[in-house]
Amino acid sequence: KNASHAALDAVHHERTFQGHSMLAPFTSGCQQTEVEPLIIEKGEGIYVWDHNGKKYLDALAGLWCTSLGFSEERLMNAAWNQMTKLPFYHSFWNRTSQRPLDLAKELIDMFKPVKMGKVFFCCTGSEANDTQVKLVWYYNNALGREKKKKIIARQKSYHGSTLSAASLSGLTPLHTGFDLPASFVLHTDCAHYWRYHLPNESEEQYSSRLADNLEKLILKEGPETIAAFIAEPLMGAGGVIPPPATYWDKIQPILKKYDILLIADEVICAFGRLGTMFACEKYNIKPDLVTIAKQLSSGYMPISAILLGQHIFDALASYSNGLGTFGHGFTYGGHPVACAVALETLRIYKERSILVHINEVAPIFQTEMKKLASSPIVGEIRGEGLVLGIEFVGDKKIKKSFPAEWGVGAYFSGQCTVLGMLIRFAGDMAMMSPPLIITIEEIHEILRISAAALKATE
Ligand code: PLP
Repeated sequence: KNASHAALDAVHHERTFQGHSMLAPFTSGCQQTEVEPLIIEKGEGIYVWDHNGKKYLDALAGLWCTSLGFSEERLMNAAWNQMTKLPFYHSFWNRTSQRPLDLAKELIDMFKPVKMGKVFFCCTGSEANDTQVKLVWYYNNALGREKKKKIIARQKSYHGSTLSAASLSGLTPLHTGFDLPASFVLHTDCAHYWRYHLPNESEEQYSSRLADNLEKLILKEGPETIAAFIAEPLMGAGGVIPPPATYWDKIQPILKKYDILLIADEVICAFGRLGTMFACEKYNIKPDLVTIAKQLSSGYMPISAILLGQHIFDALASYSNGLGTFGHGFTYGGHPVACAVALETLRIYKERSILVHINEVAPIFQTEMKKLASSPIVGEIRGEGLVLGIEFVGDKKIKKSFPAEWGVGAYFSGQCTVLGMLIRFAGDMAMMSPPLIITIEEIHEILRISAAALKATE
């Protein structure tokens, strides 16, 4: 049993494990069979309650998604109204319903960094990233470039857990035991300046080195074999890692030079998380394709989408005739209820000026949380807007990690749970992404609990 089990046991000390019939995602073997899960029963605002009645501030917004908290009635009404009118229709064979058409138009209007041409709907971020892979293959086949198929992703990235998306992801637990990655995937550097820069190397120099490494990889493999580069503008599940200065300015020209498409995976970043509507705006990224999900519907309905650059769609429209039908799609892609909820979510973001709110509260969240970096077990606290990561270290001076089996991130997370706050951990990292509607008072509650959990972990 590791530290997280101990902490969860402390929460549930009055109960013995009853067992259940669900194979739980991203849950370790002994947790599947020995530890009572935390069963969440209801939610209100940014809080949730477990089935013992214990209240938690959800500092992860579910799974980085419930941007409007857990009780936004307008979203419930949007779902109900659509349910009663048309609970389902698909979008195959040029049949569809009105809501996906409305949502596609809205998303194209919203995305400013480049002109988007079309939107393709899926249900999850993983499906959308699998679709991205197939789309860039289809695109290169249409252009008669059958060899241009490899996709470069980054170490520590997370793009989902379906076959292609997990292969793209650069996190060990996604690969171990599953015979991944697929052969078309190549991995390049994770842009984690604090952890990987050389002595006296500035952020700009570090970014140049990573851009050089990327170019070397492209040349080694042959640019005619590389179709796309996929990356999260700010890395999320890999440890909340913002790009170092000039990183995106240096990566993008290399991709252009070798005619490699850029897929921006904005599944966590989009819709205000970093203080801009899309992270591409913040980092001056001009993607060819974008993946969005999560905060698109505030997590209330499963929906994801791909935005295709106008130039990508134009090329497909001109050259794909020889390929026949675009043979790809999901029964529930563009589900009218999910689209109705997403449309209402986007309306709320606008009407309540969500970006203004985020930019008011986020500086307090970032500045105050970063003060906890003075703890002897914290190496770095980093983030942007309303997303933040804490990296623990056994030795601050030499950034030496704790032994993995100590489960320091897990222990800290467990202490937060005991104190009434939910976050996530991965190895020596703890991560937070509270609902975007969080108030300053609630941010102070996160600070209080984080400080107490940190003391208990020290
Ligand atoms: N891409 C990123 C950046 C993510 O963070 C996630 C999930 O956290 C995904 C893709 C996968 O999304 P889903 O879990 O909806 O398949």
